[in-house]
Order: sequence, then C-alpha cells, then structure tokens
Amino acid sequence: MSEPIKIEGVDDKPDYADLFSNLTATFNSGKTKDLAWRREQLQAVERMMSEREQDIFDALQSDLGKSAMESFTTETGYVSADAAYNRKNLNRWTRRQRVSTPIIGQPGKSWIQAEPLGVVLVIGAWNYPLQLTLAGMSAAVAAGNCVVLKPSELAPATSALIAQLVPEFLDPDCIRVVEGDVPETTALLELPFDHILYTGGGNVARIIMAAAAKNLTPVTLELGGKSPCVVLPDANLEATARRMVWGKFTNAGQTCIAPDYVLTDADTEALLIPLLEQNIREMFGDDAQLSDSYGRIVNDRHFERVSALIESGHTAIGGQIDAADKYIAPTVLTDVANNSAIMREEIFGPVLPIVRAENLEEAIAVIRTGDKPLAAYIFTNNKRAERKFLDQVSSGSACVNDVMMFMAVHELPFGGVGPSGMGAYSGYTGFKTFSHMKSVIKRGWWPDLAVRYAPYTEKKFRFLRKVR
Ligand code: NAD
Repeated sequence: MSEPIKIEGVDDKPDYADLFSNLTATFNSGKTKDLAWRREQLQAVERMMSEREQDIFDALQSDLGKSAMESFTTETGYVSADAAYNRKNLNRWTRRQRVSTPIIGQPGKSWIQAEPLGVVLVIGAWNYPLQLTLAGMSAAVAAGNCVVLKPSELAPATSALIAQLVPEFLDPDCIRVVEGDVPETTALLELPFDHILYTGGGNVARIIMAAAAKNLTPVTLELGGKSPCVVLPDANLEATARRMVWGKFTNAGQTCIAPDYVLTDADTEALLIPLLEQNIREMFGDDAQLSDSYGRIVNDRHFERVSALIESGHTAIGGQIDAADKYIAPTVLTDVANNSAIMREEIFGPVLPIVRAENLEEAIAVIRTGDKPLAAYIFTNNKRAERKFLDQVSSGSACVNDVMMFMAVHELPFGGVGPSGMGAYSGYTGFKTFSHMKSVIKRGWWPDLAVRYAPYTEKKFRFLRKVR
C-alpha cells in the first residue's frame, strides 16, 4: 500500500480547537472582565519589559541587529508606556458614557457601555516583533478579552522569547502564544475568533480577511505602503535632513511608516544631499557597518530584494552591501524615474530615492497615482501648502515637519486607509477596537406616553411630527 501523499502546510496542520475552547470558557467565566485583573495584566507587561529588558534586547539584536537604545525606544519602552497608559485610563474608558434621550424616550436614560468581544487573535510582523504583538495584546487585554498571540516566525529569537515570557508573567488561562509559520496561522484562522488584529503585508492580509469572512470575524489590518516625504524649498533643511535620516534608517529602513521616498525640486535636492550625507555620517560614522547604532536586513530574501532596488537610480550616498552580514549601507538615490522598480513597491529597507517634483501640485499628483499610503510627510513653513497637502493627500497618518512622530502620541489612532490598512489602535482607539460599544436605554415606567401606541390617530401623528 502506498503512503498517503502529504501536502506540506495542509496535512501537517496543527489543531487548536482545545486551546480556543479553553479560552472561550475562561472568557465566559467573566475573569477577564474584572478591572482588577486587567490592571494586573497590564502591570505585568510593564514588569516584563523592565525585568527581562536585557533578554529582549539580546533577541532583537539577534533577529535584526537592533541597538539597545533603538530596542528601548521602539519596542520595550514603547510597550511599557503603552501598557501603563491603558492601565491608567481604564476607569475612564470603561465608565458608561451618557448620551441625551429625546422626548419620545422620556422618561429614560441612555448610555454607551463598552463590553469585551471575547477571544481575539493578534498576528504580528517581524520588523518590530515585540511591539507589534504586545501592544495589540495590551489593547485587547485592557478591553477585557482573552488573547492568542502569533508572533512572526521571521524574527525567531523574539518569537521564542515571547513564547517563554508571556506564560511566565501573564495569566495563562487567558493569554496564550502560538509560535509558527503558515500551517499554524492557517489552522488558527479556521477558528471563530471574535476579532483578528493582523500586521504585515497586503497579500497575506487578503488571506486573513478571506478566512475571517467565513466566521464573520471582524478584522483590523495594519499594512504598509509607500509613505511619501515632500520637501518644499522654504523648509528648514538642516532639521529636515536630520529627521529624515533618523526616520529612514532606524531599523535599517524596515519600518512600515519610514519615509519611503522624497519628492522635491532640483534646487532643494542639491541642498539636501550634502545635509543627508552629513547626518548619516554623524549618526552612523564613516562606515555604518561598524556602527552599533545601525541594524541589519532581516533575512537573505529581503537582502536580495532591497539590494536589487539600488539599481533604480544614481547612487548619491552609500550603496555598499555585504551579503554575508545582511548589511546595506544608508543609501540615497537620485535620478529616479517615477516608473522605476523602486517606485513600484514598498522599499522596506535603507534606500531613499529622491524623485523630482518641481512644486507641491506636482508632488501631490505623483502621490495620488499610487495607493493611499500609511503615512504622508511634508516639510514646509507655508501654512497654505501644509493645509493643501493634508486636505488633498489621503493617508493613514501624517506629520508636518517631521516623520513617524505621531507614534509618540498615545491618543492618535494608528492605522492605514485603503490598501495601507483597515481599522486602527493605540490609546482609546485601541480599547474601542477590541470592545463592542453597546447602546443601552433604560426607561422609567411613568408617564408612558400613549402617543406611540395604536390606534394611530391624526392627533398622535401631528404630535409625532412635531417632536421628531
Ligand atoms: P511577516 O512575514 O512577518 O508576516 C506577518 C504575519 O503573517 C506573520 O505572523 C506570518 O506568520 C503570517 N503569515 C505569513 N504568511 C501567511 C499565510 N500564507 N497565511 C497566514 N499567515 C501568514 O510580515 P511581512 O508581511 O513581511 O511584513 C511586512 C509588511 O508589514 C510591510 O508591508 C510593512 O509595511 C507592514 N507593516 C505594517 C505595520 C503597521 O503597523 N501598519 C507594522 C509593521 C509592518
């Protein structure tokens, strides 16, 4: 008899039905609704970040060559501050929100009451492998849900550490980690989760959404795109170059909201290039490969992909690569055609093309030929130009005279629009994402206005038209 043919990724698919039913039972017990439990878990996240900081730094160094300071600002420090913010605001967010009740509902009181959704799945990406799983989890826990975390397999050291630390610090009855690749995620996606938060690329997002549709599971999709950076000639170019170099080369360009490309005129480009070069040297030294502050490309596939994009223009700065070290120098390209390879996909690496746009209108036109980006940036002192840009360029978030800094503001929702994502989280928006905002009206018994009851007379009709 011949062996059954095994299809990889299908027949070796694990089964998580027990895990899911255990979490559902815990959720139904009401354990996660208790505000004291939520506060304890959020505090435990903060403790995890401080007590195991060095282990986390080591894992991030191993996966992405991240420096300790970058790991602190973008991962452990961020996760800890986010959990603390959720914890401190929990009372306010969970309070009933009174709304006014019209005459027809009198006597009565109306309010909105947040209730947790149930068991939620958080699927993280590899570029900020800690933040993208734990910040989502924090919002879900603040809202009173059970959570399954699926960290990215492309950051294996961080994924393994999350799988080790979460049961050590957090309540294993309510929060579980599943490590794995496509088969594991596919198996998880068959379960009727109450919400899915997915961070990653658009192609997999389509798989996630199709699987979620089968269970009518709502999704929040945190995706990417080409975030443009418009520089007008009146901008403070020293500060522009400094902020742009920081934003583009943090995590070796592997940031979903990194400035993807620059749009500027010929004269401004000529002034900007030496300033970019100077800032790269100041931040990463003469040879960034020797700098402790500069990261590496996550794997060989992405190294090959990003290296090939350097061919799309003239290398004005950088261009050095070292495959054995997955190193790509901070690189700036000029003479980049708008239809070149680098302009057709999200770069997600340390290569910054400068594309010519002779004025704001031309820049906006270029941006609007592409998908709506996750973030859009403009550097200018001109208020009218700023307003025009914000009004005419649709994007998930935006900065005027900086990049990425909306991430530092807890109460600014973080999410994309169109192909850059769906839904948002962070602060109260995150709490709402993982809550159902239930509408309630409570009626008094007396007086009970007869006007809404049959028989429907002319007089009642006239009255209703008036009070409507
Ligand atoms: P990735 O490869 O880590 O994948 C994301 C997740 O999807 C992983 O957990 C992975 O296991 C899972 N996955 C992969 N293939 C799957 C499949 N066939 N079926 C089910 N699940 C699958 O991440 P990526 O896609 O390389 O991430 C890069 C993209 O993410 C970029 O476009 C970037 O801009 C975007 N991103 C967005 C944000 C944001 O917050 N908006 C943050 C970081 C990254």
